[in-house]
Amino acid sequence: MRYDVIIVGAGPAGLAAAIYSARGGLTTAVFERAMVGGQITVTEDVENYPGFEEPISGFELTAKMQAQAERFGAVFIEEEITAMGMEGLCKVIEAGGKYYRAKSVIICTGAHPRRMNVPGEERLTGRGVSYCATCDGAFYRDKVVAVVGGGDSAIEEAMFLTRFAKKVIIIHRRDELRAQKIIQERAFRNPKIEFIWDTVVQKIHGETRIEKLELVNRKTTDITMLPVDGFFIYIGILPSNQLLESRINLDSAGFVYTDEFMHTNIPGIYAAGDIRYTPLRQVVTATSDGAIAAWSAEKWIIENEDAFEVDCVEQ
Ligand code: NAP
Repeated sequence: MRYDVIIVGAGPAGLAAAIYSARGGLTTAVFERAMVGGQITVTEDVENYPGFEEPISGFELTAKMQAQAERFGAVFIEEEITAMGMEGLCKVIEAGGKYYRAKSVIICTGAHPRRMNVPGEERLTGRGVSYCATCDGAFYRDKVVAVVGGGDSAIEEAMFLTRFAKKVIIIHRRDELRAQKIIQERAFRNPKIEFIWDTVVQKIHGETRIEKLELVNRKTTDITMLPVDGFFIYIGILPSNQLLESRINLDSAGFVYTDEFMHTNIPGIYAAGDIRYTPLRQVVTATSDGAIAAWSAEKWIIENEDAFEVDCVEQ
């Protein structure tokens, strides 16, 4: 099977790339190993994507993007890509035991939650430890939950949890939040939210379920125990870059370097969205990246049309 463009990952970046690529008349396949929509599907309310006066759920927003891409002829393939051949003009993707050829590849694999790597975290995940308030928040009606982190995600998700929990305790390792001011102010005004500053979680205790958090104050080194019913971890994101061999240039944290055309260092391979080294990771920036990447891929394909006729034919 051969496509003009193969898009890896169906979050907002991949979906926007698919809309632009398919609408531009390029045969387009989007590979997604899990759920179309990516990380944003676990966000209850998206209220800063232009065009939606009222908040829209991440799930609904990305479902609309998928329908739009399909209307232009993009094909969605639910398979995990296991290998990607980046050599030469024609790229070869292996997924579900089949090989797919492409004139261009757009990597939109996104990012995933950072783990704390403290004792108890892995064992108690799904037993009171969670990385998704939208998924698990409703289990904590009238309970006490803690959230770790001081960025936009931690504070927004803590506010979301106040819909259910009677108390939400935010534990942050510094005495100042990283989150945008407007988000901070809402949290400071919320009577259900309390803060524990300058503190890290060093262990999660519990037999069959979470029972308490072992906290260390970084200034005083005092150790305290905090009983909780649930614990939500929002300490940043890591790039989903497992597929990218050492030939793609990455920053020290593993995000892909591109230029303003979304080119990676390998001709014909582009990256868009959260996987990219970028100052802002939002739906709006991801979709913008996706559009630019698809436009660049189209130009690349047109410029190399003759060579593709020889090197990248349907097999
Ligand atoms: P983030 O901005 O990187 O914040 C991570 C937070 O976790 C920081 O406060 C950091 O502390 C803390 N942290 C990191 N490692 C830790 C550890 N090992 N133990 C304890 N705390 C730790 O990540 P994010 O909140 O997931 O946001 C990711 C991106 O998405 C950001 O660009 C953000 O702006 C964006 N986002 C935007 C919105 C929105 O605009 N509505 C919503 C969600 C996310 P320090 O502050 O001390 O470094």
